[in-house]
Order: sequence, then structure tokens, then C-alpha cells
Amino acid sequence: MCDTVAPVRQVINPPNPYNKLSSEFVGEPPPTKLEIFEETATKKVITKAFASGWEGGWRYTVNCYRGCVHGCTYCFARQYHEYLGYGAGTDFETKIVVKPNAPQLLRAELKKCRNKMPHLDFSFATDPYIALESEYRLTRQCLEVCAEFRVPVSIVTKSPLVTRDIDILQKLEKVSVFFSIPFLTKERSNPFEPYTPVPEARFRAMRTVADAGIPVGIGIAPIIPGYNESDIPGLLEKAKECGATRAFMSMLHIDTPSIEEYFVAKMKERVPETRVAKIINSMKRERGGTLRHNSYKERMTGKTEQWEVTQRLFDFHSRRLGFNTKEHDADHLFDTPQTPTASSEPIQQTLF
Ligand code: SF4
Repeated sequence: MCDTVAPVRQVINPPNPYNKLSSEFVGEPPPTKLEIFEETATKKVITKAFASGWEGGWRYTVNCYRGCVHGCTYCFARQYHEYLGYGAGTDFETKIVVKPNAPQLLRAELKKCRNKMPHLDFSFATDPYIALESEYRLTRQCLEVCAEFRVPVSIVTKSPLVTRDIDILQKLEKVSVFFSIPFLTKERSNPFEPYTPVPEARFRAMRTVADAGIPVGIGIAPIIPGYNESDIPGLLEKAKECGATRAFMSMLHIDTPSIEEYFVAKMKERVPETRVAKIINSMKRERGGTLRHNSYKERMTGKTEQWEVTQRLFDFHSRRLGFNTKEHDADHLFDTPQTPTASSEPIQQTLF
């Protein structure tokens, strides 16, 4: 067999807890296929969401797509696909819902609520720069609306496609772009981020955006205990070289049984057995015996001294390299993501 042929991705979805019935394939599951749905019945595009790991708590997010072809196995947004009746596994990666009227909706909403809108975040339910964006240009059009209404914007992405929109980003009064890069090399990224642009491509894009005068940061998230702690110094050094001035990290949080099932199944396919055992044991120590957190306030942090060591490693190298200093506060929005803080409130997503 030719080893350059990509393995077939077969349909695998944990049972959807919101569906009364679930089905199983008899024999081999079929291969996945990309399906694109246009959701024209959408009435609103701004979502108010609680996110304790971010300064200020409440976030106002814009997502022009549902689902994400990047397919990170740890992605917490997988659960949102279950609300649509799809699965949190390969359905999330291949059944993509597009909101073609997102820019028009955003304009209409901002006309009504611009005065109450402190900032908008492009992220949280999908990557705003999945490949479909190159055709649909919805994130771009929404950014144009933000420039028109002078709304501060923060973007989190894993895609170099963001560089296409530098001309619009430069028109925004206040903007920051965070690149999510939790692994230093393609080899280390691949088991958990099989379909994302490789880390090197993300760093190149970071350099391009920073060179255009736009504040950039790095999100080292998630830290998978027993796997990528040692990447922290190298990631921060590389981000510094590429012009980043802000950095945050957070621990892997597995929010639902479906995500846990999919994450563990894919890890067992792609990571050597001994390393899988190390990761699972480390996670269980951090989570008090299970892989999932017991309460929302523990979601992005660990319980053990090992986590404190990881935290100190991040803090030490952040300070050494000059990240997150007051000097750069003016460059960034006030809501730079924070390395974990406690909150007892449950996550919720509400339209308003
Ligand atoms: S790029 Fe972001 S939204 Fe997309 S799968 Fe990965 S973590 Fe989820």
C-alpha cells in the first residue's frame, strides 16, 4: 500500500444526548463527505456567552459558520453541533453550516445595540478562517461592518487566511489577533489537530499580521497534561520572534461525555499506547479521578503541583520574553484572554 495516500476518514459520532434515538453502522462505517448547509433562517449573529477564562467574563461573539473543518479532537465547540441534531465527532468536521446573511444581520444588530457593545470576538464556536471563508468572505464582510461601526474586535484563529484581511484589520480602531498554537511541531500537532494548518504556517501568518502593525498574541491552549508542557518555552520564544506581545495558556477541558469519547478514541488511533496511558493518568490526577472537570470553575486549570509547575513555567518564560506587559496594554483590547481564573458560573450561550 502507498503510504502517501491519506487514510479514509470514516464517520464516527458519539450518540447525541439530545436525540431520542441513535443508530449504529452494521460493519464498516462509510467514509465522511463534506456537506455544506446554508442557514438562511438565522435571525441574529451576535451571541452573548460567559467565558470565565477571559477578562471581563461576558463575551459577545460572532460566528459565521457552525462546525469546523480543522477538526481538533479536543475542541469544546463540538457540543454545539449536537444542538443541531448532528454528532460531535466527524459530523462537526464535515457538516458545515454557513450563515450567508451574517454581515446583514450584524449590521442590523449593531444599529440597535452599538452603544452597548464593548467589543466583538470572532471565534468560540468555529474558526472564523476555515477554508470556506475564502469563497464566502463572511468574516471579512463582518469585519467591514465592525470597521464601519467602530467596534473593537478580537480574533482567535489557526488559519493563515486571516492575512487576506489585513487591509480591513488596519481600518479597525482596535483589534487584536490571537493565533492558537499549542504544539511546537507538525508531528506533535498532528494527532490532535489533524486538519489544521501546521504550526509553522500559523507562525508565518503571525509574523505577517504583526509586520502590518496589528497587535498579535499566542494562545497555548490546550495544554494536554503529559504531552505538550515541554513545548511552552519554545512556543513563547517563536511567538516573540514573530512579533507577538500577548500570551495565554489553558488546560485541556473536556466538557461533555461525547467530546471525551471522541477525543479518547482518536487519541488511541494516533498516539502510542504508552503515551495515551500517560496522558489519561495525568488528566485523571488533574481532574480528581476522571477526564472531565467536576465544576465549571475548574474547567481550564488543574489540581496538582504538576499543574502549578506548568503554570510557573509559562509565567517565567512569559516574563523573561516580555509578554503581557503594561507597555503593550494600549495595543490590545482590555479583554486579552487570561490564563485560568476561577468562576463558579456555568457556561451559557444566549442570544439577546
Ligand atoms: S480550529 Fe478552533 S474551532 Fe476549529 S476545531 Fe480547532 S479548536 Fe475547534
